[in-house]
Amino acid sequence: MPPKSYDVIVIGNGFSGLTAVLELENKDNCSICVIGPEKYPRPNNGKFILSLKDEIRANPGYRRPGGELQDHFYRNGRVDEFLKLEEKARDLLYDWSEYTGIDYCEYPNSEKREEIERFVRNANKKGISVTISDVIFIGGVNSTRDLLNRLYDHLKNECSNVDVVNGLVGRVSPEEKCAVLENGDRVRYRDAVFLACGREGIAKGIFDELKAQGYIREENGEKNLLGGVVLEAPETIFPEVMNYMCEPKLTLISGRRDDVVRTYGYYPHGRVAVVDYGNGIRCVNGIMDENRRSDNTVLGIVTEIRFTEPFNDTHLYGKRLSENTLMLGGGKPIIQRLGDYEKGRRSTEKRIKNNRLVQPTLTLNDVTPGDISFAYPDRVMDNIYDGIKKLDAVICGLAEPSTLMYAPLIILKPSRINVDPFTMRLKTDRTESEIYVLGDMNGICRGNADAIISGMIAADSFTKNRE
Ligand SMILES: Cc1cc2nc3c(=O)[nH]c(=O)nc-3n(C[C@H](O)[C@H](O)[C@H](O)COP(=O)(O)OP(=O)(O)OC[C@H]3O[C@@H](n4cnc5c(N)ncnc54)[C@H](O)[C@@H]3O)c2cc1C
Repeated sequence: MPPKSYDVIVIGNGFSGLTAVLELENKDNCSICVIGPEKYPRPNNGKFILSLKDEIRANPGYRRPGGELQDHFYRNGRVDEFLKLEEKARDLLYDWSEYTGIDYCEYPNSEKREEIERFVRNANKKGISVTISDVIFIGGVNSTRDLLNRLYDHLKNECSNVDVVNGLVGRVSPEEKCAVLENGDRVRYRDAVFLACGREGIAKGIFDELKAQGYIREENGEKNLLGGVVLEAPETIFPEVMNYMCEPKLTLISGRRDDVVRTYGYYPHGRVAVVDYGNGIRCVNGIMDENRRSDNTVLGIVTEIRFTEPFNDTHLYGKRLSENTLMLGGGKPIIQRLGDYEKGRRSTEKRIKNNRLVQPTLTLNDVTPGDISFAYPDRVMDNIYDGIKKLDAVICGLAEPSTLMYAPLIILKPSRINVDPFTMRLKTDRTESEIYVLGDMNGICRGNADAIISGMIAADSFTKNRE
């Protein structure tokens, strides 16, 4: 049987890909095929939040954090357009929540505004700035997966112009206008292919092959990486006010090195998880598992690492940091009590078991008690230690010897590629194919909000192009 052919194929069933399919299905009567694993696979969202504009600006002049996509719109005088996209993303999320019956709530809690402001003022006095985003909170890892899986099932069962193919794509051929699945099956497209594979897709070679064929060019983006540790401490030591902000970001400057140190994620009653990023990078991260609430709070603490010349390959550096740590942990991440780090000794199984105030949520089958200072450079460890000490002024008890540290925590910024941020279309001289790159895969977008917005932009631009 010859391979089936569609107007558009979408590769990847995360937020960016599914938004694009739902938008195309809505707007344009074209035939669409979406290809992805049967179930949204990884616990890739620590918890699901959609961060939009900052509501409380703890630091004057500080805009929404991490918004490179937003920056493109702002720099080109297209602020209103971007705000409309954000509003639409919010409405979509409300509709989906209603459709799937998954509850959401909004942060920060407006009834607690005064308490929040008091917390911010106090933190500022200790040299810590607080960034609070206006957030829609959908839930933990289970709700997120549930939402995506139900949207995927909706496409499969209720949308007559959408076909769903379960599987992974191994190769995309723009010349032949087809995607080749790992099992050898081919799916053809007539008009466009939407690549929405997240960062995993890059690891799986689609990206590299399109690059080798001259379709994808890497562009010079910001070359920094964040490295640090995940901390686990009793939930009871964290000020209640932090829960009214969903995920406050606390930032400070380290004393000895003058580097930026900040918290990353915040999971009350959370857990630590090992996340496989592909490309040989495995890291720890916090997650919120609604079905297994712990007595601990989990949060990351990271410092910026940046190089100029002659070496500026932060990806390679991050990969080596991760590999070093896993090597010392016998293939597993390392866990260490803060008190053991202070004494310059490794943690042992016995010391972890005897840890008075907090027991790890990852079992010793998943992590190895050890000494992170052998794996991380002095500068990174110094910054982290200094950061923990300073944060203790607002989270009293965080610098207790029983606080647990896990490594590696590495956050890499994916390479930015030749995508037009206003259409999500690949800018290429080759004319045989229309390729759109969405979400995490294009290096401009970061987080669920951007992923959803990129899906809307791509669908809209494709539809306009077709008219
Ligand atoms: C631990 C962690 C916590 C996070 N927490 C948050 C958070 O709280 N809030 C937030 O806004 N963002 C968070 N993020 C970021 C957020 O998850 C991503 O920005 C978002 O998921 C990007 O969506 P996407 O559609 O581009 O990619 P993804 O969500 O990664 O989806 C890609 C899909 O494509 C599939 N795929 C991959 N390769 C192929 C292939 N070859 N063929 C077919 N299908 C393929 C994958 O299996 C996956 O289903 C977190 C990320 C991590 C890793």
